[in-house]
Amino acid sequence: MTSSSHLSRDQLDELQAELERQLRRLQKSMKVTDQALRPVELDQSAVGRLSRMDTLQNQSLSRGLREREVVQLSQIREALARFPDAAYGECTVCGGPIRFERLFVFPEAPECAGCVT
Ligand SMILES: [Zn+2]
Repeated sequence: MTSSSHLSRDQLDELQAELERQLRRLQKSMKVTDQALRPVELDQSAVGRLSRMDTLQNQSLSRGLREREVVQLSQIREALARFPDAAYGECTVCGGPIRFERLFVFPEAPECAGCVT
C-alpha cells in the first residue's frame, strides 16, 4: 500500500469526521431496531390480533433493516480502519484511487465507481 493518498489532508479529515458521524447515527438507529426485534410477548391480552400481526410484520421489516444496518456498520468500521495506514480512498478491488466526489457521497464505499457491480 502506498503511504500517500490522492486525497488532501483536509478531504481526509472531512471524510473521517463524516464516517464517525454516520457511525454514531447508525449505532443510535440500531438501538431502535433492537427494541423492534424484541420477541413478541405471547401473553398480551390487551393486544388484539390485528396489532399482533402488525408487530410481526414490523419485526420482519426490522429484520431486513437490521441486515442492512449490519452491512453498513461493517463498511463504515472498515473504512475508518483504513485511515491509519493511509489506505483509505484506495479501491479494494483494483487498488486505484476512489474519486473524492464519490467518497463525499458514499464515504464508506470500499471500491471505485468502475469496480461497483
Ligand atoms: Zn476499482
